[in-house]
Amino acid sequence: MKEDILHNLGIINDRIKKACEQAGRNRDEVRLLLATKTVSAEHIKTALENGQTLIAENKVQELKEKYDELKGIPHENHFIGHLQTNKIKDILKYDVVCVHSLDRLDLAEKLHQRLLSEGKTIEVLIQVNTSEEESKFGVHPDEAAELARKVSEFSTLKIKGLMTIGLFSAETEKVRSCFKILKDLQQEIISQNIPNVEMKELSMGMSSDLEIAIEEGATIVRVGTAVFGARIYPDSFYWDEGK
Ligand SMILES: *Cc1c(COP(=O)(O)O)cnc(C)c1O
Repeated sequence: MKEDILHNLGIINDRIKKACEQAGRNRDEVRLLLATKTVSAEHIKTALENGQTLIAENKVQELKEKYDELKGIPHENHFIGHLQTNKIKDILKYDVVCVHSLDRLDLAEKLHQRLLSEGKTIEVLIQVNTSEEESKFGVHPDEAAELARKVSEFSTLKIKGLMTIGLFSAETEKVRSCFKILKDLQQEIISQNIPNVEMKELSMGMSSDLEIAIEEGATIVRVGTAVFGARIYPDSFYWDEGK
């Protein structure tokens, strides 16, 4: 398994490098984030001990379970799952520096209250549902700029950009249009010059579509299966409401 992970990391880094070359971008404009849902702390450790620095969980429970084993190894924790307001305390406790899945005002409000009381700040990305699939979270593209504007009023929340999950489809152009929507939104929000809003990050692209995302401007690609192998649970387990 360790050899597989190292081998796969090599392949992914080559894919990112090639995609950057083809898009005329610098390799250092794109960060690799490892999506570690269902992956054991031991396997995550292998990646962290071999050059990786950025990891993210979908569920607070898994973040908690792996925290002690990983805390001695330098790395950055992001959170990419649907965040329930009753779990906010935990993500602060377990050192999450960026939440990619901010998709509603009440979550922003509660996060802000908690951060204020702890004297902390956190980075956030606004999650946008660019595929219009009901099973996916995220604010509707038409409402994203407005949400960013409202969230910007919370001094503890540092908006760094946008996140999306592209359509699962073999039709490349349909997938690409999701990423284009996110890029266009980024430009629109930048043009509005909202105080306290930075729009430099576009978190988009996963194992199967990272090349398209990089072509369309991704600055963070989130990769799980292509590094750690297939998962037992379908992704809907992590993305559907109420589970
Ligand atoms: C699981 C997950 C990924 C990674 O997906 P893979 O297809 O395994 O690369 C990316 N983003 C989110 C939000 C995820 O839940």
